[in-house]
Amino acid sequence: MVLHADLHSHSNASDGTTPPADVMARAAAAGLDVIALTDHDTVAGHAEAAAALTPGLTLLPGMELSCRRDGHSVHMLAYLFDPAHAELAAELARITGSRVSRARAMVARLAELGIPVTWEQVSEIAGGGVVGRPHIARALAAAGVVATPADAFSPDWIGAGGRAYVSRYALDPSRAIALVRAAGGVTVLAHPRGAGRGWAIPDEVIAELAAAGLTGVEINHPQQDEEQRQRLRALARELGLVPSGGSDDHGELTGFRIGVEQAPEGSYPALIEQATGAVPISG
Ligand SMILES: [Zn+2]
Ligand SMILES: [Zn+2]
Repeated sequence: MVLHADLHSHSNASDGTTPPADVMARAAAAGLDVIALTDHDTVAGHAEAAAALTPGLTLLPGMELSCRRDGHSVHMLAYLFDPAHAELAAELARITGSRVSRARAMVARLAELGIPVTWEQVSEIAGGGVVGRPHIARALAAAGVVATPADAFSPDWIGAGGRAYVSRYALDPSRAIALVRAAGGVTVLAHPRGAGRGWAIPDEVIAELAAAGLTGVEINHPQQDEEQRQRLRALARELGLVPSGGSDDHGELTGFRIGVEQAPEGSYPALIEQATGAVPISG
């Protein structure tokens, strides 16, 4: 029997558009056996997700850590770590705090540019979750400043180096790997060739991260084409990394695509057997 595992999804605990319970319901409806909830820099959605599980669906608790390498954003998926691990929890608090002050600073810059987007609007869009650039992008689209939220990620607005862009604290990816490992978890490098907003993580950097203790690399992702996947598969084999995959569903923002990408057969057990900080939760 083939195990259907989507190891990358977001709820409104970060920048997805639907609550964790809805993400679980959509995962079940999509016929998945395993769904990882991997909100950005937070585990806030896990309790609601676990409570909403139905028989046959397993929740892999995770998150997507914001890292930075050579000035570029790098996303690191982490699974089955102990969320109470003191050092990891402190880093998460630091990232979240920086995310909020940075979002406030970007809204202030937009105000200076004469753009009618307020902190209240952005907070409302975030719905109590961690405010991030996607929420500001949605506010800009709602205000008619840009045609779609994606258009806000440009030099004119909140794209890296843009007029209203403010950078924030992010972890070095090697340190993220070590921290998650110290908390009993495993890491998977997210979409190294796609969704990087212009930066494909070089092979040498992936090799370096593998040497630093990275467990897997995301191969199957909506923003990675077949050619990129083939190259990544070969690299994973070479470096001894577990090939992984997931939809990176953000609800409405990404067209409710949960389950459209999944981890290759055998990857899910290979990942979880290396983790000791927590266990998957079955419905
Ligand atoms: Zn990502
Ligand atoms: Zn993601």
